[in-house]
Amino acid sequence: MIETGDFSIDNRLVSAEQSQEDSLSENGLRPLTLAEYIGQDKVKENMAVYIEAAKRRGGALDHVLLYGPPGLGKTTLSAIIAHEMGVNLRITTGPAIERAGDLAAILTNLSEGDVLFIDEIHRLNRAVEEILYPALEDHAIDIVIGKGPSARSLRVELSEFTLVGATTRAGQLSAPLRDRFGIVQRLELYNPEQLSDIIRRSSDILGIPCTLDGAMELAKRSRGTPRIANRLLKRVRDFADVLGNGEITKEIAKISLDRLEIDDLGLDSNDRRMLDMIIKGYGGGPVGLETLASAIGEEAVTLEDVCEPYLMQLGFIARTPRGRCATRLAYEHLGYAVPDTPADSGQMNLFE
Ligand code: ADP
Repeated sequence: MIETGDFSIDNRLVSAEQSQEDSLSENGLRPLTLAEYIGQDKVKENMAVYIEAAKRRGGALDHVLLYGPPGLGKTTLSAIIAHEMGVNLRITTGPAIERAGDLAAILTNLSEGDVLFIDEIHRLNRAVEEILYPALEDHAIDIVIGKGPSARSLRVELSEFTLVGATTRAGQLSAPLRDRFGIVQRLELYNPEQLSDIIRRSSDILGIPCTLDGAMELAKRSRGTPRIANRLLKRVRDFADVLGNGEITKEIAKISLDRLEIDDLGLDSNDRRMLDMIIKGYGGGPVGLETLASAIGEEAVTLEDVCEPYLMQLGFIARTPRGRCATRLAYEHLGYAVPDTPADSGQMNLFE
């Protein structure tokens, strides 16, 4: 069933987080080589050099840290690195590795040159992180056997491997862990042209006919994120089948996304509710995040992590020391008259 009303924030169509439905279908859409990976040109150029150099030396690639918002292609890039290096890929996440022993088991099973991908690496616990340091530097781990006075430490040699760590929050990584990555790459949001290329590639793979301007219409509403672009493609396909002849045209894309309440900048009802409350409920702000969250019945962290980054990127919200303010662009986008003299002088610059 397609929900068009007030869908909850957990299953938002425009959420960049991976949903269960995504995880079933994403693998088939993942590009396998650097050449197939669209956009992120700087990252691609750098990685091509590092991979080539490591291959010529015949050693493992240096450890890589990828950071940036969810859904931009970090997991995909780690698989490409393994594929281009001709080695195996092992995928896990920070929160899944609960005990030092769990990580030891993973590390001792890696073969020469393998890539270990740890998603959400900022969520590794300290005990696990401690094991990782010697593994990254000396390709060895120290395992403590026994307890009390008879306990002894045993050094286990590991194969030379490459850790690819991914995080949405580079700032939350501990300094010693961050320092152990030789290669640090930041992924950027994609522009509509790149997203349109990604949509057309996916529509080819999935056998969904899609015109150039149909793909562009979806791209413009995908919040700079390939995961959202692919999800919109699959959802709009249903409308194309029922309302048209199966082809996603600009018109079908517009009708479907309007019905799904995703506007021409990719904002959904949650984003609009947040902006509406700042403008109508608090005179444009500033309003504290906690106050705002309770006024619209959401968790503050949800607003901060899920709605705010894109609204800030669009320049619709500004953070001031006294709270969040809506900008002129937000008033205009929602069709409200822009006030001549905003109530709060701290906000003046937002309207100049
Ligand atoms: P992340 O790990 O950053 O959350 P993923 O690597 O899981 O993101 O990417 C989400 C989806 O977006 C993947 O299924 C992939 O098909 C698609 N994707 C991401 N980046 C690209 C890209 N550069 N080119 C083509 N498709 C991409």
